[in-house]
Amino acid sequence: MAEPQFFNIINDELRGSENTTTVTNPRTEEDLWPCPVATTQDFEDAVAAAHAAFPSWSQTTVPERQAALVKLADVLRDNRDELASILSLETGKSAILANIDITNSIAQTLYYSTHALSDQIQHEDATTRVLATHHPLGLVAALCPWNFPLILASIKVVSALVTGNCVLVKPSPFTPYAVLRWVQLSRGVLPPGVLQALHGGADLGAAITAHPGVAKVSFTGTIATGKKVMAACAATLKRVTLELAGNDACVVCEDADLEVAVPGVAAGAFFNAGQVCVASKRVYVHEGIYEEFLRRLVEEVRGKYTVVEDAGMPSVFGPVDNKVQYEVVKGIVKDCKARGYEIVTGGGVGVGKGGRGYWIEPTIVRKPDEGSLLVQEEQFGPILPVLSWSDEDDVIRRSNLANAGLGASVYSRDLARAERIARRLEAGGVWINQFEKPNHAAFFGGIKDSGYGGEMGQQGLLSYVYTKSLHFTK
Ligand code: NAD
Repeated sequence: MAEPQFFNIINDELRGSENTTTVTNPRTEEDLWPCPVATTQDFEDAVAAAHAAFPSWSQTTVPERQAALVKLADVLRDNRDELASILSLETGKSAILANIDITNSIAQTLYYSTHALSDQIQHEDATTRVLATHHPLGLVAALCPWNFPLILASIKVVSALVTGNCVLVKPSPFTPYAVLRWVQLSRGVLPPGVLQALHGGADLGAAITAHPGVAKVSFTGTIATGKKVMAACAATLKRVTLELAGNDACVVCEDADLEVAVPGVAAGAFFNAGQVCVASKRVYVHEGIYEEFLRRLVEEVRGKYTVVEDAGMPSVFGPVDNKVQYEVVKGIVKDCKARGYEIVTGGGVGVGKGGRGYWIEPTIVRKPDEGSLLVQEEQFGPILPVLSWSDEDDVIRRSNLANAGLGASVYSRDLARAERIARRLEAGGVWINQFEKPNHAAFFGGIKDSGYGGEMGQQGLLSYVYTKSLHFTK
């Protein structure tokens, strides 16, 4: 691959910057490429360009916007190899995982190219007809995390566009390259100012949330930052959607099919080294099958989720994405060791060749204290507590944390029972006899500290519009 160059994209023009940052490849700790940090002027110019574009873009028809979405998906498909290579280097993901990020982005984009909001009759009688119509808000800002850079940015981008908004995307400073490149390659698909991208960190994010010219912020990231975003948005009464951390419980019943549950839990916990917002982060296994389940889970994890240093080799495991998160996960491993918890597999940190890369072995901890850091807080990395239960009410009570409510999963051969448990779990999504895999047609969001509102599916588009009721007199 030729040495790529990256730009901020403002009004369809490419801008460099005197100030650049360079991302470290987490797999090898090699420096990647300079990336231009957007200035305050760049941001102001982007807001002005969006405001100039909005009056005509907001008047386009849904089919016109959906045709543009098809072209954005084409850009992803036609440049898949280049984008996958960039994604793999910036995130440390294997080629397989990088391609999954692109495949999911294409699927979500194409979903909205055929599914959008339409007018609905809210009430009709002999004299009156009331229609619900949906209208764009203006400039939407997409503030994004690093774990799946492309899909987590593209969900917001295409949701904003199909509903007639302009959108400004700010990828994570840990993974800016693929998103900037996608927007660069997409120049010409949309009128200038409709889709723009800026590189920067917390300062730029904070400026975006404070700016009166931004109508809505869609944020995905940590709980701590999410609270700052919501507080900042309050000052200008911006619309805000928060997709925050999860600490998903997984309940394995004594009648679970272990042929399904064991690989499901392993994938739920260790796919992308656990760096999935809806990863299975706490597993509760019925006491009657605990030892058998744990033995088989360890076998499964040792066989399929290993440290494979060559990114080209087939692997769905990988290093921790960045130094900051590496230190967080290392701290949790250290805490487990200091408290004398039994680590039944893994436990090694810095296990790359020559100590290079942010590698942590897939680690399983047997029955740590319910109040431990590992159980109570999101680990967002490859370490999993496996706890036990014997009473249904008790496991539901322990699963429902006060500080998280994103996803959960239940494994049982008795679907009525699984559904009964699923309905009592306090989470935005519950997966039955499968690990937590978002579906582009299904609404996705968390409750409690895991979020505010949600995205995806047709319902997700409602947060990108305001609804106007048209009251007709017959
Ligand atoms: P983060 O909060 O550190 O950063 C997210 C984004 O916010 C980045 O673009 C960052 O530059 C920006 N930012 C930082 N400070 C800001 C501020 N004061 N104002 C505005 N923007 C600011 O999160 P992260 O470490 O990138 O993401 C990891 C977290 O995201 C994990 O907790 C994970 O569970 C969560 N996550 C949630 C979902 C979901 O859909 N619920 C999906 C993926 C990841």
